Formats: sequence, C-alpha cells, structure tokens
Amino acid sequence: MRELQIAIIGAGIAGLTAARALQLMGFRPVVFEQAEVLGEVGAGLTVTPNATHVLNALGLESVLEEIGMRPDRGGVKHWRTGELLVEISRGNEMREKYGAAYYQVHRADLHQALAAQVEECDPGAIRTAHSLTDFEQGKEGVRLKFAQGHTASADVMIGADGVRSRVRTQLFGAERPRFTGYVAYRGLVPFEALPDGVIEPTSCLSTGPHRSFTRYLVRGGRWVNFVGLTERQDWREEGWSIRADVQEMLEEYADWYPDVRTIIRSTPEHGLFKWALFDREPLPEWTRGAVTLIGDAAHPMLPFLGQGAAMGIEDGMVLARAFAAASSVSEALRRYEEARLQRANWVMLESRKTALNYHSGNDENFRPGRHVSAESLGLMSYNPAEIPI
Ligand SMILES: Cc1cc2nc3c(=O)[nH]c(=O)nc-3n(C[C@H](O)[C@H](O)[C@H](O)COP(=O)(O)OP(=O)(O)OC[C@H]3O[C@@H](n4cnc5c(N)ncnc54)[C@H](O)[C@@H]3O)c2cc1C
Repeated sequence: MRELQIAIIGAGIAGLTAARALQLMGFRPVVFEQAEVLGEVGAGLTVTPNATHVLNALGLESVLEEIGMRPDRGGVKHWRTGELLVEISRGNEMREKYGAAYYQVHRADLHQALAAQVEECDPGAIRTAHSLTDFEQGKEGVRLKFAQGHTASADVMIGADGVRSRVRTQLFGAERPRFTGYVAYRGLVPFEALPDGVIEPTSCLSTGPHRSFTRYLVRGGRWVNFVGLTERQDWREEGWSIRADVQEMLEEYADWYPDVRTIIRSTPEHGLFKWALFDREPLPEWTRGAVTLIGDAAHPMLPFLGQGAAMGIEDGMVLARAFAAASSVSEALRRYEEARLQRANWVMLESRKTALNYHSGNDENFRPGRHVSAESLGLMSYNPAEIPI
C-alpha cells in the first residue's frame, strides 16, 4: 500500500492536510493545483479543537501558537444596541476541556504552513499550474488530464478541488452549486486604526434581522478580521469574490450599533470583498471506483458554524488513517467514507439551520434564538486522529 500513487486535486486546506497526513504515514502523494503560484487567498478562519487535534498531530502546534490568536473571551451582541447578550469563554478552558486549543488564524498563514511542511518533506510534491480537466478510470487506475496539456496517472485520486469541484461533477453529474441567498462581506482592518474599546470582547458575533457581523483578531492581534453576512435574492455579478464598496456595506448596516459601523468605515481602500455563498445538497456517497472527495468538494457548507475548513481538515486526517490501516484502495476509501459522510453531511445541514436562527426576527426587540454554535452541537469533542475508523 505504501507504494500507491495517490493524486490529490487541489492545494487548499483540505488537500494539503490530506497530503501531509499521508506523508507522515509513509505515503508519497502528489498534489495538483490549478493556480500558477500558491498565494494569499482568503481571510480569517476559526480552528476549533476538533481541527486543532489534527494540526497538532501534523506537528503544527508551535506554528499555531505563533500564527493563531487564542481569544480569551467571546460574545454575542445585539445588532442595534451593542448589548452583550451571551458571553462565551474561549481561553485556556478550551484546551483543558477538549485537549486542544481554539485558534483564530489568517487562512493564508495556515495554508502556507501546511504547504511548507508538504514541500519540505517531498520537494515537488505540489505541482502548480495543473488544472484538471478530465479523468478516466480503468483497470490500471486513474488517468488524469490537465488544461496545460500534461497528463498523469495514479492508483487513486482525491478530489479536494473546492465548492466548484470538477472531480465531483464528473463523478456525480453536473448539479450546480446553489446560491444560498447569503452574501458575505469580508475585510481586514488594522487594529491600531480603531478607537479604544471597539474590540471588546476580543471575539464577537453580532446578530440581527437578516444580517450578522463577526469579528476577531488575527496575525498577532495586529489585524481585525470581519465577516458581515447579509441576505440577497440573487447574485448577478461576475465571479464569486469581488471587490466591494465600503459605502455599500455601510448602507447594509445603516441601523447597527456604532462599533460595527466604525470597523466597516476603517477598512483600507480596496480591502473590502463581497463573496456570494454557495452550497450543495448533501451527497449520499463520495466515492466511485478509485476516486473520492474531501473538503468543500464533498460538503460545501455555510459559514455560520465556522466549520468548513475544520471539516476538510478532519477529512484529511481520517483519509490518511484509512489508507494506513487498509490493505486495498477500495477498503481504504470505504473506511474513510463510512467514518466521515454522516458527520460532515450533518454539519452541512446544521450550518443552514443556524443561519436561520441568527438572522431571524425583524424588529428592535430582536433576540437570537438559543445560541447555537459548534460547541453547543458537541462538534468539538471529536478527535479525528483517534476516532475508530
Ligand atoms: C465567509 C466564510 C467564512 C468562513 N469561515 C470559516 C471558519 O471560520 N472556519 C472554518 O473552518 N471554515 C470557514 N469557512 C470555510 C472554509 O473557508 C472552506 O470550507 C475551506 O477553505 C475549504 O477548503 P478546501 O480545501 O476544501 O477548498 P478550497 O479552499 O476551495 O481549495 C480548493 C483548491 O482546489 C483548487 N482547484 C479547484 N479546481 C481545480 C482543478 N480543476 N484542478 C486543480 N486544482 C483545482 C483551487 O485553486 C484551490 O486551491 C468560511 C467560508 C466562508 C465563505
């Protein structure tokens, strides 16, 4: 089994986690990435203990301490008054309770750390400028074709190619990602640009009718990452992550308490992006022959539980463990899917329900329903490095 040629399509967080976990278990995977260079894509990500367990097992604990913020306190605030409705403790108790810490990081920092590990172990393991267009399965394994004219062959192929996965389309048909009706505004504001007292508590979600606003610190506390989730009937703009206008976002949050508006107003020029949120229906299976899916390719989800990347990280570790434990490709893929499908699909559906809970109500007396979070759903007590597979 250790001689297997494993091709991973996509060097996102899920693909790189799988690659690194497979390397640690003695395999030599190759990651094919469409981008010409691996770059600074994305903004903040929460890494909850269920994902931290994996990153720790990959040897990234000290890196997480360096690139991650461990917020001491979090809270939920009222959209109009700014009143603190719920207080959440996120400090050292998290580590004591779950055996792994809770971090808030910049996606680019985590991505870079994973990519560096993979390349250090096996220079050339990540092949950029390889955009998969097509593949064929036969007795000899999988034959891969790339837009740039290259071809490759593998015994097994892992589709980690994100919400618009080509691998998924070829395996299960051309069902298109669904525009969920949510548009996310994302930005990063220098901490020093904000007046004292605006960032209190350090991590905060504000919820209101048809909108929410989350902000937390990243990069040593030098930057405030924010995501404003709003509702829209349709998405007609070109692309799915485009530059946005500060004035437009301020209009969306016109009646909100001043701190939220101050943060939005402080976004540096060209630093605000709009991002239409797409998801898909849960799949009843992820595998056909020697090809399977992980991460957003398998289960793209709304960000209301902050679990999208975490689920891809969980997949990567469980997939690698399944290969290490199995004696054939089909057994490995079956064990992986059996261990993961139900949990990931459930979290997808819970993320949709949580959206309704956050954005419900339409008046000033708005109170969010019971505060549902990854923690209240029990997601954090799962250790992908140890669960039975
Ligand atoms: C507003 C927002 C906030 C979020 N916040 C959180 C959070 O707090 N915590 C959390 O855990 N998650 C969060 N997420 C979700 C998280 O960002 C995603 O779930 C996660 O990044 C998906 O990782 P992935 O590796 O599966 O896919 P991607 O990151 O999309 O990576 C896919 C990779 O595949 C490559 N690729 C695509 N097609 C091809 C092809 N044909 N050939 C070769 N390469 C290809 C792409 O270039 C890309 O590098 C959030 C998402 C949103 C929208």
